[in-house]
Amino acid sequence: MPLTSQQEFEESLSENVPLAPMATLGIGGPARYFAEVTGPDALLAGVEWARSRGTPLFVLGGGSNIVVADAGFPGLVLRMSIRGVETSFDGGDVVITAGAGEEWDALVAHCVARNWAGFECLSGIPGRVGATPIQNVGAYGQETSETLESVEVLDLATERLVDLSAGECEFGYRTSKFKVRDRGRFIIARVTYRLAVNGKPVVRYPELQRHLAELGILKPTLADVREAVLAIRRRKAMVIDPRDSDSRSVGSFFVNPTLTRDEFETLKQRLGVGGEDLPAFDVSDGRVKLSAAWLIERAGIKRGYVHGNVGTSTKHALAIVNRDGGAAREVVELKDLIQKRVFEEFGVGLTPEPVFVGFDE
Ligand SMILES: Cc1cc2nc3c(=O)[nH]c(=O)nc-3n(C[C@H](O)[C@H](O)[C@H](O)COP(=O)(O)OP(=O)(O)OC[C@H]3O[C@@H](n4cnc5c(N)ncnc54)[C@H](O)[C@@H]3O)c2cc1C
Repeated sequence: MPLTSQQEFEESLSENVPLAPMATLGIGGPARYFAEVTGPDALLAGVEWARSRGTPLFVLGGGSNIVVADAGFPGLVLRMSIRGVETSFDGGDVVITAGAGEEWDALVAHCVARNWAGFECLSGIPGRVGATPIQNVGAYGQETSETLESVEVLDLATERLVDLSAGECEFGYRTSKFKVRDRGRFIIARVTYRLAVNGKPVVRYPELQRHLAELGILKPTLADVREAVLAIRRRKAMVIDPRDSDSRSVGSFFVNPTLTRDEFETLKQRLGVGGEDLPAFDVSDGRVKLSAAWLIERAGIKRGYVHGNVGTSTKHALAIVNRDGGAAREVVELKDLIQKRVFEEFGVGLTPEPVFVGFDE
């Protein structure tokens, strides 16, 4: 008799699987139960298995935006490994549907090589496709929400696969409904993006503009922009490189805070002359975005700050790194210290960007 999807799922289950090697920070204890899911049926079977036992559930992608507790996760970790990329053409656009388990940067490279515009500034970001809508991944002047058309999700409230349009995802700066209002309700199975065939690259980020100008590239191609972004990111250890311990991180540990225009003016007055150098950028909803890295350094936590076996990157104060043999407890202590110092100095609260796994079960 053929196995039911529940039986198949149970056969694929492992127990006490170390999570640290699956997290870019390289920190954290084991998953009590663990399974790779390669299709929607296995995904649903995993969800039902966890529900029937009252076991907490966590969906893992590439592990590049998580801090796993030293004791690990006491429930079921489903590693999203749904693969496959389908493309079709619509006028001057290409519509791409990618499995949530596809590696993000491989997809970017694939599109840039074909001269499909829309992902080029998002080069070098680790992780898998399914996580890109969660925090509306963005970098160097581009965001996921600009090209995302829809997502196919498993709705845990109904246990059905449904499509959500970009408008329904409630995207904002480093956020979406998956991160805030409906946190934990949806598991992303596939993502559909729309890119421009032979479109022009986006070169609106000043650091990227400067870099290309220094190279004498006046009319950059998509490939030039990808290379430039990768070069800039490597200088900051924002590309995973096993030889560079500064890249043993979750990338930026804090979201750049945004203030209302009034709050920003008050902060500048409070800082007096120093406020003139306060780096700030306008964001779409009339708010002002500050540089979390600048605030952290001015609050006295410099690059290369050491806290036990963890610290800040020697190349970027915004990244907390596992120097060697670091513990999640130390990461949390350093996070708390940074938040406290920045709040005391500037009255600005910093919100962590990564997801904390196994801390509240
Ligand atoms: C060196 C470095 C540089 C980085 N640079 C950037 C950057 O420039 N910009 C940026 O925005 N981010 C950056 N990041 C953060 C991170 O790479 C992204 O947030 C990435 O999208 C996370 O993908 P992941 O697959 O690793 O997700 P994970 O870390 O595995 O998971 C992150 C969260 O997403 C959830 N999740 C993952 N997959 C799914 C799914 N299929 N369905 C539902 N929930 C899911 C998880 O449950 C978890 O809550 C960087 C990280 C590192 C280490």
